Amino acid sequence: MSGGRSPRDPDCIFCRIVAGEVPSTGVHAGDRVIAIRDIAPRAPTHVLILSREHIPSAADLTSDDAALLADAFAAASEIARSEGIAERGYRVVTNVGQWGGQTVDHLHFHLMGGRSFTWPPG
Ligand code: AMP
Repeated sequence: MSGGRSPRDPDCIFCRIVAGEVPSTGVHAGDRVIAIRDIAPRAPTHVLILSREHIPSAADLTSDDAALLADAFAAASEIARSEGIAERGYRVVTNVGQWGGQTVDHLHFHLMGGRSFTWPPG
């Protein structure tokens, strides 16, 4: 389990990806977020939008993170268009904690598309 909020957690795989120490396939790089392809895609398009800062999950966000969230959703919208999934629709989701299905304790949004999804998720 990674620690609390900090500019960087040396034990966090996503911090290491942000720092360029672990390889990834980047699709977007902004001031506050980057986007990479998921290593185990669950949909034809499966991109992860990561905060540059180490924030354990969406549960740690405050109103001071408004710009970060705006950047994350603007990136999602831009990537959805460039991936060709915007017209038919897609899903943006963030998992929080064990029952939420979170496996990496660093804030990220899944941008998934290219197929239809059921609701509610399993
Ligand atoms: P979550 O389970 O919601 O925390 O999402 C974590 C996601 O990170 C999963 O979909 C994993 O497949 C993905 N993942 C884990 N390690 C890597 C990695 N090194 N590069 C890209 N995606 C990864």
